[in-house]
Amino acid sequence: MAILLVVAELNGNVVTESTGELVAAAKAVASDGDEIVVAVLSDDPAIVGASAAGLGADRVLTVQHEALAEMGAGSFEAPVAAVTAISNSLSPAAILLSKSDFGSNVGPRVAAQVGGGFAQDCIGLSSASNGRISVTRPVYGGNALAEYVFSGDGVQVLTVRPTIFDPASGDGASPIESFDAPTDVGKISARLVETIAEESKGVRLEDADVVISGGRGLGGPEPFEQLQALADVLGGALGASRAACDAGWIDHSHQIGLTGKSVSPNVYITFGISGASQHMAGCSGSKVIVAVNKDADANIFKDARFGVVGDWGKVLEGFRAAVDDLAVS
Ligand SMILES: Cc1cc2nc3c(=O)[nH]c(=O)nc-3n(C[C@H](O)[C@H](O)[C@H](O)COP(=O)(O)OP(=O)(O)OC[C@H]3O[C@@H](n4cnc5c(N)ncnc54)[C@H](O)[C@@H]3O)c2cc1C
Repeated sequence: MAILLVVAELNGNVVTESTGELVAAAKAVASDGDEIVVAVLSDDPAIVGASAAGLGADRVLTVQHEALAEMGAGSFEAPVAAVTAISNSLSPAAILLSKSDFGSNVGPRVAAQVGGGFAQDCIGLSSASNGRISVTRPVYGGNALAEYVFSGDGVQVLTVRPTIFDPASGDGASPIESFDAPTDVGKISARLVETIAEESKGVRLEDADVVISGGRGLGGPEPFEQLQALADVLGGALGASRAACDAGWIDHSHQIGLTGKSVSPNVYITFGISGASQHMAGCSGSKVIVAVNKDADANIFKDARFGVVGDWGKVLEGFRAAVDDLAVS
């Protein structure tokens, strides 16, 4: 029997949806008899632990330490020490974290502490013939997908891209146990001084089921208002290419890509985006890509399930009219 350890991420007093996705990812590679354990790290784990109990894991471990109040907010020493301690105690076969700032910082540090292997940004997980986990992850800026199989017998530490797995759920009855966190977390290298919430209205890009993105082909800032209006009607969010952001047509917080945000919506619709590999690195996890571009040879059409060769303005006008008709009928 092996243990698969999921490290929960928190949003206030509850675990995030991505934590449920990690449980689903763990279930995808669990064998009969394996145990899925969710670790909740918090300075006050009582309420959070209860929200983790509804994810369908076999048990929830809550770790309480005042240093964990700063978890994921600049200081990673405490969560790294806590997860390492749990790993040393339970000897899990694998540790799963979300591909977020928190997971991307904590995962490799834990892997180094426990002498394990590390795979970043996994978009697929399966069981390999050697009994280890096989992961699929984008490489070369999203231009190719590579499969890796963990070798050796060390702990397999991996981060999973959000929204790839449907979140697992259960009857809320996973037993909750507390775990003694190490009190000495060493030197804290960074401390959170202030949090400035990014001003955003509507759905967060990373959580949106539909993302409408615009690029340099739009020719200026005004068209982004039309794309935003379409995104609002569809309950989606607005994205952009770096070229559009660099031109000052839209804020960089909307940038999708290698140096922007990663999104994996059900539908990703682009207007006037060429589909450079650095852009595709941020949206290749989308279930369906729809591209509108006046150049039939544009790279984006290689990745798009549906494409329209034409001027973005005319296509958007027709698409918007069709959406409005649907909303009325
Ligand atoms: C290290 C590095 C990191 C990078 N990170 C990112 C990143 O995170 N995100 C990102 O997006 N880019 C990134 N880039 C930049 C990337 O390489 C491209 O330059 C950028 O994505 C191009 O943006 P674009 O598609 O909007 O513009 P362009 O490449 O100029 O494409 C514009 C497209 O619009 C089409 N078009 C023009 N007029 C119309 C019209 N009227 N109707 C319909 N279509 C029209 C054109 O045919 C063309 O295909 C990065 C580059 C580097 C080197």
